[in-house]
Amino acid sequence: MNCYETLHIKRIINASEPYTDLGGSLMEKETVEAMMQAAGHCIEYEALRNAVCEKAAQLTQNEAAFVTTGASAGLELSAGACMCLGREENMDMLPDTSSFSRNEIIVINGDVLHIIPYWRLTGLTGAKIIKVKPDIRYIKEAVCEKTAACVLFPASFYEKGIPSCEEIIPVLKETGVKIIVDAAAQLPPASNLWYYTKKLGADLAIFSGGKHIKGPQSTGLIVGDKELIRLCKMLASPNPRLGRAFKTGKEELAGFITALELFVSGDEEKRFKRQEEKLLKIAETVKEKTGIRTEMLQKGRLGTFQPLLHLYLPEHMTAKNCNIYTRSLTPAVDVGVYPPEFGMEENIVFINAYNLKDEEEIMVADAVCDYILKMKENSRQ
Ligand SMILES: *Cc1c(COP(=O)(O)O)cnc(C)c1O
Repeated sequence: MNCYETLHIKRIINASEPYTDLGGSLMEKETVEAMMQAAGHCIEYEALRNAVCEKAAQLTQNEAAFVTTGASAGLELSAGACMCLGREENMDMLPDTSSFSRNEIIVINGDVLHIIPYWRLTGLTGAKIIKVKPDIRYIKEAVCEKTAACVLFPASFYEKGIPSCEEIIPVLKETGVKIIVDAAAQLPPASNLWYYTKKLGADLAIFSGGKHIKGPQSTGLIVGDKELIRLCKMLASPNPRLGRAFKTGKEELAGFITALELFVSGDEEKRFKRQEEKLLKIAETVKEKTGIRTEMLQKGRLGTFQPLLHLYLPEHMTAKNCNIYTRSLTPAVDVGVYPPEFGMEENIVFINAYNLKDEEEIMVADAVCDYILKMKENSRQ
């Protein structure tokens, strides 16, 4: 029996996204091996962490980098660092920011955008969150002497008409405000690891380690400005400050840096092709068995460099119900369902092969066919 079976936990084939709910991504063999090696010895923790962070900076072509316990931890540490910039004595006061000259964080209004409010996490630092309408003019006007930073999320993929990072960042740069980009799931291409900071000029960009980088699920990465990264490090474990709660273990540090190296040095075209082959196989099988329309897209759900397959379910069937059905199978299959804010038709199932192991594409195709054929059968009765 494996560890999941002992706990009565059902295996899920991930045909959607490296969602946290599904346990993130699957690590490569080399990454797991690095974690096992790290687990075998005690070391000088800070030396290891510094070496890992330095290598992460090199691999991501940034001035500096900090490896933490997730993109969420990255948001908190970044917000904290921006409030303590030039005032290191502030660090020991967090989360009491009442005496700070700069303690406001601007975010794009989550009441207007229906995206998951990850920006809320910046508030755990004691920062006052200022919510602004998704309009460049209002965002610029909101910047004042109390502003410590502005947190951006590449939201234009979710909602039409929302200003993109490419549009907002140059305008914000004129004000001199610090800019943090939450790019947790904005990979691949690997070049996004330096795109937001080096190309667009954001001060910090944040990525999940457990999503597309395929590191341990409990890791994350902050890249960008050297001084801000130094402050993130000082706020984090093992120092007894706000970020003490975000402790990366030696195993996670070793696993993360191995995964990052594999991610950055891998052949992206080849990876794309391998995923595309799996998707084409699914499309072919589903079309043959059920006659439904399929469509291959050359872009991922968030505009990323990934192939994506759309399956158009017949009338009276929804992606949501299809997912409920395929999740009930053993092993379960998670097919992609667009959240309502994407404004997509309810009958579109999306399939992403990023975390599909060889041969699993057959099980995905069978699961979807099973659903369609059963529904057709039911409606005939
Ligand atoms: C997943 C995600 C996060 C949270 O990342 P963790 O690594 O799970 O902490 C934050 N922001 C966005 C946009 C995400 O997609």
